[in-house]
Amino acid sequence: MTMSAAISSNSPRMLRRATTTRRRAGSQLPPVQGQESHDNALNMLRNYLKGRTCYDVFPVSFRLIVLDTKLEVKKALQCFLLNGVVSAPLWNSEKSCFAGMLTVSDIIHLIQYYYHTSNFATAVTDVETLRLESLRDIEKALGVNTPPLLWASPDQSLYEAASLLMQTHARRLPLLDNDTETGHEMIVSIMTQYRLLKFISINCTKEVALLHLPLRKLGIGTYVVDPKDAPEGSPPFWPLATATMSTPVFDVVHEFSGRGISAVPIIDEEGIVVNLYETVDVITLVRLGAYQSLDLTIAQALNERSPDFPGVVICTASDSLGTLLQLINKRRVHRLVVVEGEEDEKRGGRKGRLLGIITLTDVLRYLVGTAPLHEHTEPPEVKLPPQPQENPQQGQSQQESGTTSEA
Ligand code: AMP
Repeated sequence: MTMSAAISSNSPRMLRRATTTRRRAGSQLPPVQGQESHDNALNMLRNYLKGRTCYDVFPVSFRLIVLDTKLEVKKALQCFLLNGVVSAPLWNSEKSCFAGMLTVSDIIHLIQYYYHTSNFATAVTDVETLRLESLRDIEKALGVNTPPLLWASPDQSLYEAASLLMQTHARRLPLLDNDTETGHEMIVSIMTQYRLLKFISINCTKEVALLHLPLRKLGIGTYVVDPKDAPEGSPPFWPLATATMSTPVFDVVHEFSGRGISAVPIIDEEGIVVNLYETVDVITLVRLGAYQSLDLTIAQALNERSPDFPGVVICTASDSLGTLLQLINKRRVHRLVVVEGEEDEKRGGRKGRLLGIITLTDVLRYLVGTAPLHEHTEPPEVKLPPQPQENPQQGQSQQESGTTSEA
């Protein structure tokens, strides 16, 4: 099992220096930490996002992998594996226009389709010839919703982009423009939840440090409810979808697709979190010939995981939003599993037991707020010229930019 350290040890509260008797200038006094300072910092962040455009997030140089809809699914998957990415925008070269995104969700639907309808041999030959443009037919056959053809202009504010991401439940937003020479549509880049949050964490360090209220108190994430409040007959840890090491991978893949989630905590018989199975792990199965591998148990599937797997990040419900954003600045984290900590243990709990899950969707939803979309679709009243950043935002490496490595 790979488990990384909990994030609480970096808490800004713990890093505060001991009081000294030496007088200090007013500006050096630590900020008063209350609801008001938290709310002020949140408002400042929202205004910051309203005053910056998607263009501001782009690194100086980046690559963008675009796949033609005529490409065979098999080649597209090879392209993912070779380039270490798990999604790419699609291009219809007959009509010279953007044609949606290929993501891990599509791969999951494909796997489900073949699992239900065919045997391994036919699945393999079909994937040799199946083209990306046919994937939508598979979604129809499965009866799952076709993803909306969602996009934004790179000139739109980050706040608008984030609101659009939240209201459509998308994890990434293609940015399209018109080529002034040809008049054709052009795919400029992809805005992801991670890039947006990392941009905030790099450029708004002062505000981030003031977001000191605990994640659970802020309602960020999905948490286990008291069994007496859960609907009758609900499984333990409801409403969280969980699995054990002996659960068949197919059951988990079904949860991914049915509930629209991208990870499932793996727990032992006492509810202690031992790992996390993510939608990106399905890509490994595809490499192995996934149409059969779904009969594997989670334990067997995890054995196939790359040794580069960065680990599962855990936190406790009392960790702050600021700490989480500081972590996003330092490492490519897409979700955290919330577990009971020492404090819970003193109250009769069990250290390491599953309490909840926090994904980037939850964090972004909180930062953007729940205002209706129409308030934010108009261009901002004052368009700021591109501004030099105090702390340049190009924190992403070329590998990360342009394409995403998250489902
Ligand atoms: P995601 O698509 O993974 O960002 O998650 C979308 C929403 O589902 C978020 O509000 C998460 O807190 C929630 N969620 C993620 N994983 C699970 C899970 N295993 N069980 C229940 N809810 C989850």
